[in-house]
Amino acid sequence: MQVDTIIVGQGLCGSFLSWQLINAGQSVMVIDANKFNSATKVASGVINPVTGRRIVKTWEIDVLMPYAVEAYQRFGVAIGTSLIQQCNVLDFHATPQNKLAFEERLLKEPDYLTRTDDSVWERFFHINFGIGEINPCWLIQLDALLVGWRKKLMAQNALTETVFKFEDCTISPNGIEWNNLKAKQLIFCDGTDGLSNPYFSLLPFASNKGEALIVSIPDLPRECIYKQGISIVPWKDGLFWIGSTYEWTYQDLNPTQAFRDKTIQQLNNWLKLPYDIVDHLASERPANVERRPFVGCHPIHPNIGILNGMGTKGCSLAPYFAHQLTDYLLEGKPIHPLADVQRFKNILSR
Ligand SMILES: Cc1cc2nc3c(=O)[nH]c(=O)nc-3n(C[C@H](O)[C@H](O)[C@H](O)COP(=O)(O)OP(=O)(O)OC[C@H]3O[C@@H](n4cnc5c(N)ncnc54)[C@H](O)[C@@H]3O)c2cc1C
Repeated sequence: MQVDTIIVGQGLCGSFLSWQLINAGQSVMVIDANKFNSATKVASGVINPVTGRRIVKTWEIDVLMPYAVEAYQRFGVAIGTSLIQQCNVLDFHATPQNKLAFEERLLKEPDYLTRTDDSVWERFFHINFGIGEINPCWLIQLDALLVGWRKKLMAQNALTETVFKFEDCTISPNGIEWNNLKAKQLIFCDGTDGLSNPYFSLLPFASNKGEALIVSIPDLPRECIYKQGISIVPWKDGLFWIGSTYEWTYQDLNPTQAFRDKTIQQLNNWLKLPYDIVDHLASERPANVERRPFVGCHPIHPNIGILNGMGTKGCSLAPYFAHQLTDYLLEGKPIHPLADVQRFKNILSR
């Protein structure tokens, strides 16, 4: 069997890349191990255009967000289910400083910020220093995307569920051979497994662990995301996702009692409604030191590529950079210089 491209990984990156390549008329084989705790399976799926204590716009968001919104809408049509809805973040100010920062930003650069009527939320939450609204934010149905696209790929005989092992693969300038499959190129969308990928492990990955509780809160409205240190995000099956942490040193990817205890304490101080914990998840974000994605082809092996390093922002970055990588592979169009993996040419040529 022969395809144009083998893609390793069907998380957010591998899903968008395979979708874009197929739309452009290419044949693909996606190899995915179906890890139960991949980043995409544990993520809450929020696109929030601002970040940090100073509530500044995130990198390139004015370009990334409109592109992402349209891409999720089109992807949803392709798999026959809605994948995106507007779901603004209500930012509950925990301190007077938080409130001041929001007010200052609202005066100087009001993009994406609005005021909200606090009194509406007094029935549901203890409110300390008011609430600001981040508008628009978007919520992605990541589970529906992964499941729906996997079914489509399987129906086209374009997905193999197994672990890709490097010893099963021969790479030469003439092409790729993996088991009995031949391809012109091989693209890695392997998330945090990129750290042990012999072609790309020298990239400055800096993965971090995040946990979330899955909680039933029957009386809480589902049209907003609520944030005060932790976020409460509408999740599948009528539940809410509550998290998260950023752990830089950890022994394993198991959910921890410490996170559970701390989150329960925060919830009890904030939420006025009864709730039930139904699950506890943990995963690793494929983050990196520069907080910019890894997109493009290996400087020595031009038929081997990567789409990775999305960190905390995969939902907004993956659609746009899968598109840029597709244009680069098919038409040689340039990749954003701060995302192009060629910026690590010297390191990757060692
Ligand atoms: C707790 C948490 C909350 C998050 N919340 C958000 C959020 O609200 N918004 C946001 O934008 N981002 C969020 N993120 C980040 C987001 O999840 C990631 O940026 C994104 O999902 C990364 O997608 P990926 O495809 O690179 O990796 P992954 O989703 O990890 O996919 C990698 C895939 O590769 C496969 N794979 C790896 N190695 C092999 C191999 N050798 N053989 C076969 N298959 C292989 C795995 O099975 C997996 O399916 C969150 C992350 C976490 C952990």
